[in-house]
Amino acid sequence: MTRFYCDAMLGGLARWLRALGYEAEFEHGIDDGDLVERAGALGAVLLSSDQPLFKRKRVASGEVRALFVPRHAPVLDQAVFVLSELGLEVGELRCMDCGGALTTVSRDEAEREAPPGALASCDDFFRCARCRRLYWRGTHWTKIEATRGEVATRVAALRERTGSGGPS
Ligand SMILES: [Zn+2]
Repeated sequence: MTRFYCDAMLGGLARWLRALGYEAEFEHGIDDGDLVERAGALGAVLLSSDQPLFKRKRVASGEVRALFVPRHAPVLDQAVFVLSELGLEVGELRCMDCGGALTTVSRDEAEREAPPGALASCDDFFRCARCRRLYWRGTHWTKIEATRGEVATRVAALRERTGSGGPS
């Protein structure tokens, strides 16, 4: 599965790529050299808004895959751009904090730690298998689902426009 390593300017994009189904690493203050090394070690696609990074030997040679992302674009535009450039679909929702997979949690288990408001209004609870964060299908979740749908529609529309056929 494609995974990503985002540069220090693209933390918001990393969170959304996780919500769109992809593992995305991000680290505050990481320098370009480390970024290239770590992306290379993970076999991740490096996402960066930093032009000089693309002149580094391992990136310029294609040994480390990298994609230039326009820094000032809204984060969802960036996400649509990345998925369509790489021909990827929207996948299963992952934990936005760490990219871990979400698993269903029983109401009994959720009752021990969910806030009363969530217990009163939601029936579906999920836990991140990696960082253990508890999620529930409340208004925040619903907004994320709507955004995921919007991104999927935009990616599909772009694919249609650029065409899937070979040279005509
Ligand atoms: Zn997590």
